[in-house]
Amino acid sequence: MLLMLLLQATAPNPALVPTPDGRVLGHFPYGDVAPGELVDAPTGFGIHACRIRRDVLPDLQRLLMAAAGDPGVGGTLRGLSCHRSIQRQSGVFRTGGEGDAESRSISVAPPGHSEHTTGYAIDFAIRPSPNCPDIEACMANLPAAKWLIANAPRFGFEMSFPAGNAQRVKWEPWHWRWVGTTRATPGAAQARFLFAKARAAFPADPGIAEPLKIVLTGQPNAPVRPVVKADKKKKRKR
Ligand SMILES: [Zn+2]
Repeated sequence: MLLMLLLQATAPNPALVPTPDGRVLGHFPYGDVAPGELVDAPTGFGIHACRIRRDVLPDLQRLLMAAAGDPGVGGTLRGLSCHRSIQRQSGVFRTGGEGDAESRSISVAPPGHSEHTTGYAIDFAIRPSPNCPDIEACMANLPAAKWLIANAPRFGFEMSFPAGNAQRVKWEPWHWRWVGTTRATPGAAQARFLFAKARAAFPADPGIAEPLKIVLTGQPNAPVRPVVKADKKKKRKR
């Protein structure tokens, strides 16, 4: 009995044991980006300090410029949370969400398992945000979020955790990861490599559609049968 109690006391929390695909509480593992890879987001975007991967900056600038051109959206899209180190994520995980580790993981990734550590993820907020606090699903009804959902993929961003995702992560219409509009975009191949498992198992929505691949098989086209014209006389009789 004593041995059983001891074993129970020392056994790791089964919820924190990674699944075969490396996920902990639904979230894939990610390492910290090298600090030299990070740059400041455009001035005035971050509500607090907002640093992102250098490769994300051109598309974020283009996205903000396009948003500025929409009278209902311009100037309202802000960066609530950008790069977060694993150390910072530990604090967010301890204090964020409600309940035990398993419940908190629905809205906050455990340290070492957040897309924010890669420098490719941004949590957007809207200012002003009438009647809707930050990081709540009601955001999706605000014009700026609707604009984001309609346009972010044009600038290489995709919604990592869509509504009803099978990954068991809360719908996060504020959380977007950058993977580039095409694989040829500078830095996109690296971002896509990092997110490959997540993108394959739990596709983003809206996501970045891969360009249509033309497959050449070397086979000749199927012969086209000549159209047999029906006899006009017979047709009239019917
Ligand atoms: Zn986020």
